[in-house]
Amino acid sequence: MKLIFLSAAIVSVTFAASDALKKSCCASLSNALSSETLYVQDQGYIESLKSYWTTQESALKPSCIVKPQSTDDVATAVKLLAKLDCSFAIRGNGHTAWAGSANIQDGVTIDLRSIDQIKVGSNGSPTQVGTGATWGDVYGTLDPLNLTVIGGRASLVGVSGLTLGGGISYLSPRYGFVCDNVENYEIVLASGKITNANANQNSDLFRALKGGSNNFGIVTRFDLRTVQLGQMWGGQVVYNVSLVPQALKAFTDFNAANPYDEYASTIQSVAFDSTFGLVAVNSFQYTAPVVNPPAFAGFDVIQPQLSSTLRITTLKDITDEQGAFSPAGFRDLYTTITFRNDLPFLTYVYNTWKSTVTSSITSIPNLNYAITWQPIPPAITSKSVPATSSNSYSNPNRDTGNSLGLENSKTPLILCSLSIKWERSTDDAVIESTARNFIEQIGKAAREKGVDNDFLYLNYALNGQDPIRGYGRENVERLKKASRQYDPNGVFQKQVPGGFKLPF
Ligand SMILES: Cc1cc2nc3c(=O)[nH]c(=O)nc-3n(C[C@H](O)[C@H](O)[C@H](O)COP(=O)(O)OP(=O)(O)OC[C@H]3O[C@@H](n4cnc5c(N)ncnc54)[C@H](O)[C@@H]3O)c2cc1C
Repeated sequence: MKLIFLSAAIVSVTFAASDALKKSCCASLSNALSSETLYVQDQGYIESLKSYWTTQESALKPSCIVKPQSTDDVATAVKLLAKLDCSFAIRGNGHTAWAGSANIQDGVTIDLRSIDQIKVGSNGSPTQVGTGATWGDVYGTLDPLNLTVIGGRASLVGVSGLTLGGGISYLSPRYGFVCDNVENYEIVLASGKITNANANQNSDLFRALKGGSNNFGIVTRFDLRTVQLGQMWGGQVVYNVSLVPQALKAFTDFNAANPYDEYASTIQSVAFDSTFGLVAVNSFQYTAPVVNPPAFAGFDVIQPQLSSTLRITTLKDITDEQGAFSPAGFRDLYTTITFRNDLPFLTYVYNTWKSTVTSSITSIPNLNYAITWQPIPPAITSKSVPATSSNSYSNPNRDTGNSLGLENSKTPLILCSLSIKWERSTDDAVIESTARNFIEQIGKAAREKGVDNDFLYLNYALNGQDPIRGYGRENVERLKKASRQYDPNGVFQKQVPGGFKLPF
């Protein structure tokens, strides 16, 4: 009995201590950054939570939200939070689906959206993008100048999370992953120090940030390689699902094309939607103003098309269209797996997915249950190879490589993702177990058939998946070394529980 009382007393003292600590975290932030620190009754707090992409992320209630207006503000906040041992979350634009990636219950959330300045790079210099900007902000600024950067495919998504997780762009076949085209990161380290990481300064941190997500500090500015882009061709084509077998064949042929037309990219999806039933959608993009480019000729046999939005237009317009398919304010789940470009296996994956479209799924109201694949041909992965005199790509800032572990991939890969949108929390358990079982089954089958690949794209991964381990042992060791060097007390490992952590 005594023991029980004693342990109850210890528990209540611990709670009291942690409550006091939480209060002192927010109180200290209020002292240092008074107008930037928001509490539950503030309009700014309510707006911040409401503006996450998914309702799961919006549902977490931090003790306070700090909304820095400058890099100096970020440095002040990080220094305080590290010193007081406070738990905190780092929010870019809040587009990760799962709860706790960029928000935190009862801790402090740093909402970076106000740091969104864009300074256009001219004469070959990089475009400087504040960490809170969206890709739509960036393209809206650059399109009229016939310039662009290598960035995301939906306008509302954040520059920061996407770039730190690697990033795949319509321009990736020409220029590599989004992270391969960052020339410099301005970053606040755990000590509060503001520094830069580029090919010449802190080059090990520079490489670590190319795929290392939120494990090293808070990036406050991305200096992105600026390239020419006028108008382009692209849009979405919808088919009846009976045509999926032809679509899969066209997709795997496209992915294996040799030579690969580096202006061309595509994404193929099949979805069960509560309103439309089963539909197949192919999105096509060509980053030059060419109508029906020959690179997509293999898709011409997929007839009839139920609808098509293919047109010559701007990148901003294409990314607005893509974004409109994924409105905010729902429950969402993303999960992912990568395997070799193999038509029989892709057919197996599609059939397995179709077998999960049972009444326990289709009876969920306002559901969109989609499987998507996109090509990762050597045209993309080969550009992650550090530049040398013999392969000198035009971007010297690529000379450190990245952390993704794909640079030696000699064969085309398929990046497969499951994305599910629904409304009621009571459906969470069915959705989550269906998704996790599906990915497990596909992973097992891929290993058995020898078409597996360890890469799990961090930006599509579900909590519980371990994308950083998938970068391979050598990259993980380099990342751990960078963590020890730039964050010796492990602030971003221990005090920032959200996101994907290094596998220590
Ligand atoms: C509709 C839609 C379209 C998408 N399209 C693409 C696409 O075309 N290509 C692609 O590659 N991915 C795409 N994604 C996936 C996208 O890359 C991820 O959702 C990404 O995390 C979004 O970035 P964010 O800043 O909005 O995310 P957040 O959820 O805010 O952040 C993601 C993670 O990064 C960390 N983080 C964010 N900012 C910083 C920072 N400044 N410093 C340190 N850590 C930080 C956060 O702590 C969090 O763990 C898409 C997602 C959606 C929902």
